[in-house]
Amino acid sequence: AKADGRGTYRFFETGMDARAQARRLLEMDLRAAVQRDEFEAYYQPIRDVASGRVVAFEALLRWNHPQRGLIAPIDFIPLAEETGLIVQLGEFVLRSACIDAATWPDDVDLAVNLSPVQFKNPNLIASVIAALAASGLDARRLELEITESVLLQNSEATLTTLHELRAMGVRISLDDFGTGYSSLSYLRSFPFDKIKIDRSFVSELATREDSMAIIRAVTSLGRSLGIVTTAEGVENDAQLELLRREGCTQAQGYLFSKPRPASDVAVMLNRPRLL
Ligand code: C2E
Ligand code: CA
Ligand code: CA
Ligand code: CA
Repeated sequence: AKADGRGTYRFFETGMDARAQARRLLEMDLRAAVQRDEFEAYYQPIRDVASGRVVAFEALLRWNHPQRGLIAPIDFIPLAEETGLIVQLGEFVLRSACIDAATWPDDVDLAVNLSPVQFKNPNLIASVIAALAASGLDARRLELEITESVLLQNSEATLTTLHELRAMGVRISLDDFGTGYSSLSYLRSFPFDKIKIDRSFVSELATREDSMAIIRAVTSLGRSLGIVTTAEGVENDAQLELLRREGCTQAQGYLFSKPRPASDVAVMLNRPRLL
């Protein structure tokens, strides 16, 4: 009966979709990693285009896997969202990033990404309040980045949450602007503080007339609505120069620095370029 059992098991294993199995392993790994504290917030500077000053850092999650090394969010965030583990991860990022940011000069803000899944959690507001209280960070130094998919789901409750956060002094940014379906209508449904222009438009700035026209339109839209515009993925001086000419407020990208650990924040503040 034992041999039968093993045989059946082996048959089941080989018959199982390899991808489903890899996914199951990753999920177990991910759960253990949360317990083992293998996650870390990295930071990327955001600079004011006109003055060049660092005005904020965006927290970007990294997984320090004991065997596989540093893992980027693209390889674990989707699964963390599907399994709901993103709620714990999101609370971790918020908590640790607020503690880090409280040690920075107080004219340097913190931007944290929020997953749509976190908006389904009734404790979101409470965890933001707890992270601010535990760190002593002023709510006005915290920006939360959301994508328009947040507004797609259950929008009444989501809008209430966003308004509550804003009433606390927290600012709300619309991330990856231009990549969704109907970005313009979202600008009307909520008073965003910032628009982050997706990297895809910036990377084609010098080579595609239409990308240039889109950047021009979005920065002009931001100016008329009183919304800060931040260009993502700025990689060279030519792009920065075009953004400056169009009056884009802020820029972020490898031109200034890749995301780096908290211990490198002082260096990123002091050096205009860092590879
Ligand atoms: P995002 O919020 O759009 O973050 C910007 C991404 O662009 C980051 O990738 C950053 O490293 C990358 N990037 C910045 N400048 C440049 C550049 O000049 N060139 C290029 N090629 N890339 C640049 P990263 O860190 O791999 O994060 C990917 C995505 O994962 C983020 O996109 C965000 O959607 C998600 N993510 C990261 N951390 C968190 C988190 O703590 N919570 C949640 N919910 N999502 C997160
Ligand atoms: Ca972001
Ligand atoms: Ca983005
Ligand atoms: Ca993105």
